[in-house]
Amino acid sequence: MVFSMEYQSTRDSAVRVSSAQAITQGISREGGLFVPESLPVLSPEDYRSLAKKSYVERADAVLSRFLTDFTGEEIASCTRAAYTSDRFGSADVAPLHSLDDRTHILELWHGPTCAFKDMALQILPHLMRVSAGKTADGKEIVILVATSGDTGKAALEGFRDAPHTRILVFYPEQGVSPMQKLQMITQEGANVAVCAIRGNFDDAQSGVKRIFTDPAVARKLETQGMMFSSANSINWGRLVPQVVYYVSAYCDLLASGRLREGQGFHVVVPTGNFGNILAAYYAKQMGVPVSRLICASNRNRVLADFLQTGVYDRRREFYATSSPSMDILISSNLERLLYHLSGRDDAVVRDLMARLSADGVYTVSDAVKKRLQEDFTGGWCDEEQTASTISSVWREHRYLCDTHTAVAVHVCEEYRRRTGDGTPCVIASTANPYKFSSSVASALGADVAALDEFQKVEELHRLTGCPVPEPLAAIQGKAPRFTEVCGREDMEQMVYRLLHIAE
Ligand SMILES: *Cc1c(COP(=O)(O)O)cnc(C)c1O
Repeated sequence: MVFSMEYQSTRDSAVRVSSAQAITQGISREGGLFVPESLPVLSPEDYRSLAKKSYVERADAVLSRFLTDFTGEEIASCTRAAYTSDRFGSADVAPLHSLDDRTHILELWHGPTCAFKDMALQILPHLMRVSAGKTADGKEIVILVATSGDTGKAALEGFRDAPHTRILVFYPEQGVSPMQKLQMITQEGANVAVCAIRGNFDDAQSGVKRIFTDPAVARKLETQGMMFSSANSINWGRLVPQVVYYVSAYCDLLASGRLREGQGFHVVVPTGNFGNILAAYYAKQMGVPVSRLICASNRNRVLADFLQTGVYDRRREFYATSSPSMDILISSNLERLLYHLSGRDDAVVRDLMARLSADGVYTVSDAVKKRLQEDFTGGWCDEEQTASTISSVWREHRYLCDTHTAVAVHVCEEYRRRTGDGTPCVIASTANPYKFSSSVASALGADVAALDEFQKVEELHRLTGCPVPEPLAAIQGKAPRFTEVCGREDMEQMVYRLLHIAE
């Protein structure tokens, strides 16, 4: 008998759907997030054999355990369409760069938009196509996205001109880097639209979630033969491809002898919406010997505080930092972790999420806090430390990292200083430094304030000799296509306008 994995909602355990349904729907109707009913475990022999295999084969092995209603051929067609050397620069889709024998940088930004979001968003359109074929009965899928900068571009690039699909992206007008904005507003494709909102990422994300879960909006789309789905990390189809690169990192470390079989290592992740680090948690449950999950925040340190105290309190000042993709106070994927740590108790999750939305704060039970701290450590990094880390890593290792990666490197160094723990660390590197040229060049001591974005790129190249990624260089000279701005209350109307539906 073939085992079939079902997915439950974090806010109603009685809801059970297939993986195809979880992916096309994106979010459960009552607002909960889909999680697998159990987590598959790979054996030491599985890892030994995967260590000899390519990234796509490792992806096949992981995805097939979770997407049990997909055939092997369907999964292989998705992984092979997504992770081409053409798009990722080589067959080594997520290479490890070792700074020394216990500090390994997992480079997740070799895809077409130069941020780790490509790891999931290059394959999600294919998973969505197969899923929709199983469940969407011919409806046109409207992907609605809220972005803190990188998801928007990666989703646009992934879904552009995908059949029976449209994609609408909302980004915070003042909350993304100039390069991130240019990448989005120059996006090509006949089925895409982009709109800025007056507000921050949390406003964009709350607005999108509200539209998603409003039954009246769903009915209106239905009359047009459309349905919503999500490309944000609330969608299970975003998370499962991210589990793959942690499995792959362990396999690479084994294959090269940098790690012994079963030897523990810490994973350090620069965190915003908690998707990337949650994928590492799932990899750990699958048998990858991750010791601690070290969650790195920027000055918006709501998660670092939560991991220390068990109190999640978003009632605090919001800072626009040099690592804008982590400027988030409501980390949506934490909900999934709370569900797991509370023993899949949907009542606990409903209560905590209701408190968060009513009061902006919640406190987890002592039991949940204890389990949380068994696996996770939090840390954070201010603006000055981010810049000095970029500069010291460059000086000491001739390795150029972006602002988000620098946050993680700093938190890793801090953790080692504080604990004396010499366990090897895999640090997730989430963006190419040229996406944040201004901050990175300034960190190296350049005065770039008077330069335009492409002159900053030039200057950073002159300083470091690091290659400028072709997709970023190609933006220069492209005309902006999308210049709309709307208030956060007007997002629903904007959706209708962009879809050409009467209100
Ligand atoms: C999205 C993003 C993050 C945060 O990832 P989460 O999965 O939201 O925690 C960190 N760095 C970069 C560059 C990103 O684009």
